[in-house]
Amino acid sequence: MIKRTLREISEMIKVENDVSAFKDSAISGVSIDSRKLNLGNLFIPFKGENSDGHRFVEEAIKKGAAAAFWQKDVPNPPLHLPILVVEDPLIALQELARKYRNELDVKVVGITGSNGKTTTKDITANLLSLKYKVQKTEGNFNNEIGLPLTILGLEKDTEMAVLEMGMSSKGEIDFLTRLARPEAAIITNIGESHLLDLGSREGIAEAKLEIVNGLQENGLLAYYGDEPLLTQQLKNLERSIDTKTFGRTIKNDLYPVEIEQNDTGSSFVINASESTFFLPVLGTHNVLNAMAAMAVANFFGIPYEKMNDGFTGLKLTNMRTELLQGKMGEKIINDAYNASPTSMYAAIELIAHLPGYKNKVLVLGDMLELGPEEEEFHRKMGESIDSNKIDYVFTFGNLGKHIAEGAKISLPANRVFAYTEKQPLIDELKKLVNEDTIILVKASRGMMLEEVVSALQ
Ligand code: ATP
Ligand code: MG
Repeated sequence: MIKRTLREISEMIKVENDVSAFKDSAISGVSIDSRKLNLGNLFIPFKGENSDGHRFVEEAIKKGAAAAFWQKDVPNPPLHLPILVVEDPLIALQELARKYRNELDVKVVGITGSNGKTTTKDITANLLSLKYKVQKTEGNFNNEIGLPLTILGLEKDTEMAVLEMGMSSKGEIDFLTRLARPEAAIITNIGESHLLDLGSREGIAEAKLEIVNGLQENGLLAYYGDEPLLTQQLKNLERSIDTKTFGRTIKNDLYPVEIEQNDTGSSFVINASESTFFLPVLGTHNVLNAMAAMAVANFFGIPYEKMNDGFTGLKLTNMRTELLQGKMGEKIINDAYNASPTSMYAAIELIAHLPGYKNKVLVLGDMLELGPEEEEFHRKMGESIDSNKIDYVFTFGNLGKHIAEGAKISLPANRVFAYTEKQPLIDELKKLVNEDTIILVKASRGMMLEEVVSALQ
């Protein structure tokens, strides 16, 4: 993490007060939460609509923070303490991260896309660790606050940083990529999340492609080649960049020639190597994420043949296609972390093709933020469910019921249940689970379907 004297920090950003009295104080790391502070941190208060971090500045310093920012227009700065008065603490944080990144001798991989960013980030970091000292975004710290914090957490001797870049509107990826200046970038795919803000899938593709704006000369863009919008829009790019595509079809630079799934993961072979790989994560969509990571790892000099070692022991962040054991002997795929149509199709596809279970149950909740066509998206999801592969469908929520409606086209009505409360759903669900059952639980974060998962465990 960043280690500088207070004077050095004050030279990296624009500071409005005289800090000479504290110039030799040693700062290591930054924190935006006074409850999770480490000794020597620079504490950064944010002023929101309902809360104001400035109230915690004195306490933070008492607890061991070496210094704190203070927003210029907030009255009564405690200037007897090591305070750096700045115009805007968020901008100062970002500026500090930008300067620090430029002082570091680190190579950055930036990852964006509608689905699979965190997973691809974890896999990429694992593969690069075969050769380099790697740090990565913790959890989902992928926005205009999380990314600067991640950068400021990088150690001096870290060789590669794998950074997740999230967005909800235009211009955000542009900002993050110019700050991080990646040597390699990945676009995992284009889905429908944030359709509401971006208007169309074209708009989403455009926003994700902003990632090339910060890509370094001679850098690589690896992207999902089965998405025509990406290929099309890349043609309009003024600058020529090196690209590598991955996808399911043979028109891609990297594609799987064979995938075999069981309930511990997928074995697969790709066109670019003789090796058989084993990815200990469920779902063929994760093979796509793995191929994105492989393209980038290969760009940084790691031979495909070595990559199996990078897949072993892969640990993904919680609630992303986790396979859990239920009380009645059933298996549960907990994918309650989030949902969009692309990721829900992928998850249903996964359970539909998983061998070894006689009773396959879907528990699906609302997918939020889909805009005016939200009901249509849900109904179509339901219609896509194949009664030859899925035995029961439970839905939760007011949008979820449109999935149920769609599902009834293929499944008999007595195998489709729609709920707007969790307890009756759980009670009904418990009646039909046994050792031969596998249950997929998936919805948007706000639906908190993990409560159903907990009830089964
Ligand atoms: P967020 O926007 O919440 O940060 P993310 O892009 O980081 O999400 P992950 O957390 O990696 O995505 O995965 C979320 C879910 O998306 C997974 O549980 C899975 O169901 C689905 N998913 C992951 N990868 C893909 C993919 N390549 N294609 C479709 N769906 C995917
Ligand atoms: Mg994520």
